[in-house]
Amino acid sequence: MYTVTGKVGGKRIVKFECPTCAAPIESPLEEAGQKFPCPSCARKFVTPGVDELRQQQEAARAKAEARAQAEAEAEQRRADEAKAKQQRQLEKNKAVAERRSRPPSLLRSAAFVSIITACVVMGLFDLFIIRPLQYRLATAEQKLDEMAKDQDHLRDAVNGNTEMANRNATVMTENIQRVDADLVHLRHDLAALTETVKTTGREKSGNDSQ
Ligand SMILES: [Zn+2]
Repeated sequence: MYTVTGKVGGKRIVKFECPTCAAPIESPLEEAGQKFPCPSCARKFVTPGVDELRQQQEAARAKAEARAQAEAEAEQRRADEAKAKQQRQLEKNKAVAERRSRPPSLLRSAAFVSIITACVVMGLFDLFIIRPLQYRLATAEQKLDEMAKDQDHLRDAVNGNTEMANRNATVMTENIQRVDADLVHLRHDLAALTETVKTTGREKSGNDSQ
């Protein structure tokens, strides 16, 4: 028979009697299964408590394993947290980089609205200002062409009339000169005739007086 105490000063003690002389003996549980000589009769005995020692070692190993497991899990948790933190930082940096690389959405939508408005205004400007002006310009150019043609016709007509008038004036001048010449001849003939009449009259009265 033997008993195993709880921990005393950090150690468990096995209490038993020498199987030979029945002297009471106390040994540390760590010595269970080992042979020693009895302090009273010097006969060797095997320290009992092997099962308890094995249980204690098992418990210690299980505790150490649990602690190691817990430490591993804690380490894993710390690693996961560090990784998650790094990931969050990376995403934050990425978001910041993206925000920096493109203009804010409000500005983008404002720019979009400005472009659309500019397009609409340009379209309206083209439709209501440019096109009527182009139409009026084309009409004015057409009228100008027609007026230029009319002017050419008028110039031709005026030139033709002037030529005819000049020709008429020349003919009339020649006629006047001819009439003047005829008049001179006529006056000359008249003077000759008057002289003839006078001479004839004198000869007649001379004949009458004879
Ligand atoms: Zn003994």
